[in-house]
Amino acid sequence: MNKIRSGQRIIRGISGSPGICIGKAYLIDREGVNLTKRYPVSEAMVPAEIDRFKNAVTKAKNDHAKVIESLDPDLGENLSILEAHMVLFKDKMLYGKAIETISRDRINAEWALRKVSRKVKAMFQQINDQYLKDRVNDIVQVSDKIMSHLVGAQDIQIRDINKRVILVAHDLSPADASQIQLERIKGFVTDRGGKNSHTSIVAKSLKIPSVLGSGRASSVINNDDILIVDGSSGIIIVNPEEDTLFKYQERLERFQVYRADIERDSHLPALTKDGVALNLMSNIERVEEVVSAKDNGAEGVGLFRTEFLYLDLKRFPTEDELLQKYKELVELMNPEPVTIRTLDINGDKVNPYMDPVEEANPVLGLRAVRFCLEHESIFITQLKAILRVAAFGNIKLLIPMISCVEEIIQVKVVLNKAILELEHEDKIFNKDIPLGIMIEVPSAVIMAEELADQVDFFSIGTNDLIQYSMAADRSNQRVGHLYQALNPAVLKMIKMTCDAAHKKGIEVVMCGEMAGDPINMPILLGLGLTDLSMSSASIPVIKKMIRSMDFSLAGKNVNKLFGFQTTEEISTFIQEEYKDILPYREMEE
Ligand code: PEP
Ligand code: MG
Repeated sequence: MNKIRSGQRIIRGISGSPGICIGKAYLIDREGVNLTKRYPVSEAMVPAEIDRFKNAVTKAKNDHAKVIESLDPDLGENLSILEAHMVLFKDKMLYGKAIETISRDRINAEWALRKVSRKVKAMFQQINDQYLKDRVNDIVQVSDKIMSHLVGAQDIQIRDINKRVILVAHDLSPADASQIQLERIKGFVTDRGGKNSHTSIVAKSLKIPSVLGSGRASSVINNDDILIVDGSSGIIIVNPEEDTLFKYQERLERFQVYRADIERDSHLPALTKDGVALNLMSNIERVEEVVSAKDNGAEGVGLFRTEFLYLDLKRFPTEDELLQKYKELVELMNPEPVTIRTLDINGDKVNPYMDPVEEANPVLGLRAVRFCLEHESIFITQLKAILRVAAFGNIKLLIPMISCVEEIIQVKVVLNKAILELEHEDKIFNKDIPLGIMIEVPSAVIMAEELADQVDFFSIGTNDLIQYSMAADRSNQRVGHLYQALNPAVLKMIKMTCDAAHKKGIEVVMCGEMAGDPINMPILLGLGLTDLSMSSASIPVIKKMIRSMDFSLAGKNVNKLFGFQTTEEISTFIQEEYKDILPYREMEE
């Protein structure tokens, strides 16, 4: 944080989504429980503090009971885990010890609970017994629920905020961000998060400015402070002086004019100057986003991220519920194609109601298809819904995070089981749908030719491919400088994938955020990619860029780009070479 002049402060973060907004700050308490709530308690206050703790336990327990009530009784394993949690609310190790700690140490309930839960964790850390380890996880989860009632975090539901404000949070999960009501929330800033985190992807699709990874915005900004959020440059200005405010109001107006200008032509085809038609599609997280996909001129849904439905419901949806949602989407998009990606849960989209697996490196853990293969019945339920909706529209099936040939073979076995079940149940479905995999793990790139023999299409997921190739967490701003789409290593990975797909005669699409940035078009077109899927908001600007490009020239020039060794050389070369047609980058960055 830099102090410019008294009163005005600038906090630098990362551009989460472009645009500018000006408004009042509204702080929400997430994740980082406020430790300043630690305070000594006088002897007379101890009973009141214990009562506060007991009340929080009762509320958390009631909430938990409601979740259980709303669950599908067929959920077996997961249901019994949640039922076991009911008992833990009054467990001696947690409940008894927390009360004892409040009175013995004379500290407030939050601090006592934190102390106890850390102790429990430490005690079991060394033990190898899986049963006991799982039990500790259960206790920690229950403790978190009580804590959120103690600190009042549960009172703030983002969708219930009814003022025109800018949200300020330590962190926002993708599920939190997707609750944002556009007519109320102008933008948001967070301490954590990276440029291609799912939270930033949600912000882009909502077309609201956001700055992520600011480090300490939530501890510096106070409620009702006036904020300027410049999502394009990743800057937050707190309590701006008059001339700054004036300058940004002007920039805001220019940005609005610029965006309207570009959007005006979004219905035109993405045709290059030499007459090659590109197919631009939308990445969506929710059915309602179809409207924006169509408004922005998408010719299909190239990626439907299905996990948000699971996160919203806070339980596993049934096959019929999934079918109903998918049908809504397909009917709205017909006859355009819709690629449904199977559940990509865990990583940065952790589902709070699933079994509590603590992983040191969740992004390298039981995520996406790995989770689905481990939980076959959840996978089969989704596959059946997808096969059923395929009877009503133009559907493709996409499997995320495949890292070896064995995995796709296993997926096909499960897919066959789903087909057999549907046949047995005499349901209407269509099994003749293209099967594709995301290419987002380096091992899949290396095995691309072998994998191409197994599937009908590839979808290159650069958000993860960059993360895994560069070993730079996409949600961690501290390694943001290594998260480079134009790094030669990443470009070689993309080239290998395209070459393998072309050689084997299968389709290849790019659906990572890289497909939504104009500066990447020379390389993507140069590699012969004609199918791109991106956040709907990016389509107009990409169309504009494509309409000024020559496809065959891009192909001829692409080798020059592979002659460079650093990201900077590549990026400088493109900016120079294409300076006349690159859309106004000051507005887009
Ligand atoms: C990707 O990894 O590029 C991708 C499109 O998938 P997600 O962002 O959902 O991980
Ligand atoms: Mg991915």
